[in-house]
Amino acid sequence: MKILIIGGGAAGMSAASKAKRVDPSSEVVVYDSGTFVSYAECGLPYYLGGKFDDYVKLIHYPVKEFTEKRGIIVKTGISVRSVEAEKKFVTLSDGSSEAFDRLIICSGAHAKIEEKFRESGAVAIRSLDSGIEIKAKIHEKMKITIVGDGVLGMELASSFNEGGHDVMLISHHTALFPKISKDISQSLLKDFQKKINVELNSEITDIIKENDGYKVTTTKGTHKTGLVIFATGISPNTAFLKNSSINLTESGLIKTNEKMETNFEYIYAAGDCATSKNIVTGKESWHPLAQVSNKMGRVAGSNAVGNKMIFPGSIGTTLVKIFDYEVGFSGLTLEEAIKEGLTANKTTIKAWSRAAYYEGGSEVFIEIVYEESTGRLLGCQIVGKDNCAWRLNSVAVAIQAKLSVEDLFYTDFGYTPPFGPVWDAIVIAASQSMK
Ligand SMILES: Cc1cc2nc3c(=O)[nH]c(=O)nc-3n(C[C@H](O)[C@H](O)[C@H](O)COP(=O)(O)OP(=O)(O)OC[C@H]3O[C@@H](n4cnc5c(N)ncnc54)[C@H](O)[C@@H]3O)c2cc1C
Repeated sequence: MKILIIGGGAAGMSAASKAKRVDPSSEVVVYDSGTFVSYAECGLPYYLGGKFDDYVKLIHYPVKEFTEKRGIIVKTGISVRSVEAEKKFVTLSDGSSEAFDRLIICSGAHAKIEEKFRESGAVAIRSLDSGIEIKAKIHEKMKITIVGDGVLGMELASSFNEGGHDVMLISHHTALFPKISKDISQSLLKDFQKKINVELNSEITDIIKENDGYKVTTTKGTHKTGLVIFATGISPNTAFLKNSSINLTESGLIKTNEKMETNFEYIYAAGDCATSKNIVTGKESWHPLAQVSNKMGRVAGSNAVGNKMIFPGSIGTTLVKIFDYEVGFSGLTLEEAIKEGLTANKTTIKAWSRAAYYEGGSEVFIEIVYEESTGRLLGCQIVGKDNCAWRLNSVAVAIQAKLSVEDLFYTDFGYTPPFGPVWDAIVIAASQSMK
C-alpha cells in the first residue's frame, strides 16, 4: 500500500511515522515544499530573539532518521500542485505526478500579510526557512515593530525585548490579547508598557523602505523601525485543493471526521490545514496548535493503514511566556460561550501563588467560565509569574473531562507551601463559582 503525505511538519511526520510503524510493509512518501521537515516551529520566536543562534537546534530529527532508520521516503523542495481525488494521484511542482492508495494532507498554514506590506519589505514568520531568512535581517539592538497582539505577536515582542531590542507593538484592539479577559489584560498592560511601546486601537496604513530601515505610518502616527513583522493570524495552505472535490470550509480548512477522514475515505487531513471537533461545543472547530497537530497526524497515519484510531477533538489549550508571565487559556471565553448560545457566567479572581509566608510568590489572575445551569466548566484563563502554566493545564483536564466547578473544587490537588497556598487560586475560583 502506498501512503502519500503532503507536508513534513508536526502532523505530516507524525502521520508518516505512525503509518510505517503500524504497517512496515507500506510505502510511505512525504513531500514538503520547504527545505526542512520535523522541526520546532514553536521555537522560532526564541531563535529570532537571540536565545540561541544555531537553527539546527530546532530540528527534531535529521531527514536520515526518517529515510534510513524509519524507512520513510522524504522529498523536500517539491510542492504538490493539485490532487486528483477520484483518480488517486497528485501533480507535483517538478511537472511529474504520483499515484497513491491513501493520501494524508498535512500542508499546515501560512501567515496572513497584506501583499502591499509584503512588497514594502514587511515579513511574517511561519516555516524554518522564513525564520532563517528573517534572522539574517536582524541586527543587534535593532528597533523591531510587531503587528498583532495574539499569542505569536506577544511572544515575539517579549522575546525581542529580552534579546535587547527596542520593540513597538501595534494592535487594532482596544486591549491586549483578545483571548484573555479584558479585566486581566488591562492590569498587565501597565507592566508590559514598562518594557515595550504599545500602540492600541491602531492600524498600519503605510510602510516605506528607507536606507536604514522603514517608515511606518499608522492611524495614530509615524515611526521609524528596523524591521516590521506581521503576526496577524494564519490561513490554511489549501489553495492547491481548490479544484479537487475535497470538501473545504468557507475559510479553506479541510473538513474531517473523528478518523481524520475527508469526504473521501482514502484521503485524510491533519494539523493546521484541517478541522477537528471542539470538545466544549461539540462543533467543527480549528485549533492550530502543535500538540493537536501531532495527535491528529498520528490518528490519520494509523487509520490510513487500517488500524482504527479516533481523534476525540480539542479544546484549544494554549500556553505562552510573555516577559516573566506565564499566560494560558483553554476552552471558551465568556463572550465565546454566550455566542454559542450557552447561558454562561464567569468568576475572575486574583490570588497568591504560594503560601503567604513562603518566598517567591506572586499574583495569579484566574478566570473560570462555566455553564450556569449545570456548573460545567467551559473555559479558563490564567496569568501570573509563578507556576501558572501547570495550573492552566490542570483546569484544561477538567474542561476536557466536562467536569463542573464543584468537581474542580473537590479535586484532590496536592499541596505544599512552596508550590501554592492551601486554598489555591484554582480552588478559590471554583469555590466562588459554586455560590
Ligand atoms: C512561530 C510559531 C510559534 C508557534 N508556537 C506554538 C506554541 O508555542 N505552541 C503550540 O501549540 N503551537 C505553536 N505554533 C503552532 C504549531 O507550530 C503548529 O500548529 C504546527 O506546527 C502545525 O503543524 P502542521 O503539520 O499542521 O503544519 P506545519 O508544521 O506548518 O507543516 C506543514 C508543512 O507542509 C508543507 N507544505 C505546505 N503546502 C505544501 C504543498 N502544497 N506541497 C508540499 N508541502 C507543502 C510546508 O512546507 C510545511 O513544512 C507555533 C507556530 C509558529 C509559526
